[in-house]
Amino acid sequence: MGDAFTTRYFNACLLIEAEGTRVLIDAPPALARALGDLGERGGERVGLDDIDHVVVTHLHGDHVGGLEQLLFWRRFVTGRKAALYAIPEVLAGLWETRLKGGMEILMNERFESQTLTLEDYADVLPLGPGGTAIGPLLVDFRRTLHHIPTSALRIRGRASSFAYSADTAFDPALIAWLGEADLFFHETNLGIHTPLASLAALPETTRRKMRLIHYPDFHSVEESPIECAREGQRYDLG
Ligand SMILES: [Zn+2]
Repeated sequence: MGDAFTTRYFNACLLIEAEGTRVLIDAPPALARALGDLGERGGERVGLDDIDHVVVTHLHGDHVGGLEQLLFWRRFVTGRKAALYAIPEVLAGLWETRLKGGMEILMNERFESQTLTLEDYADVLPLGPGGTAIGPLLVDFRRTLHHIPTSALRIRGRASSFAYSADTAFDPALIAWLGEADLFFHETNLGIHTPLASLAALPETTRRKMRLIHYPDFHSVEESPIECAREGQRYDLG
């Protein structure tokens, strides 16, 4: 639940399970280890094979640095493509600016080089207006105030919904949009991120639905004015 510079936590990501469909929201570095850690904490054992859908909020390394690991694993070990979703502006840069350098050329067993594209590794699906269905879930997005194109997400299941701010500056309109869900995760950090004080000043009805994520290492989880999401924590939304 940590930020880009954390030495205490894994980088922020969320794993959703709904009626047998698993969706990973962002794929941070050390993804396999983060998933293994979930199992160590008493959760279900989920590996890179078990995640068929990945939604990427934006291209900063702490949000996509584990994609190469996931896609390589599935190509070499299971041979099953994952489905990758993001807003078109994010998809436009994903291969060229994040993945191509390490993934474009593969050698076969005769040491002949082959040239691949992102589509050889994954089914690439833009998040569109009006919602994108992933299994029983409907995924909506809204752009946030961040250095590079970034989407917040609102995800509706049959009985409940949750939302995720992704990285953003303080944006009351975004918070109103997120707050339409039953529960939402909101970032807080320094610089152009959302100051904790801005979130702490929100009405109690909003704060009650909010869980902090992407908080700095120095943030006191125990004494936080807004409840913090913790690693390995499970939310059963019914
Ligand atoms: Zn970011």
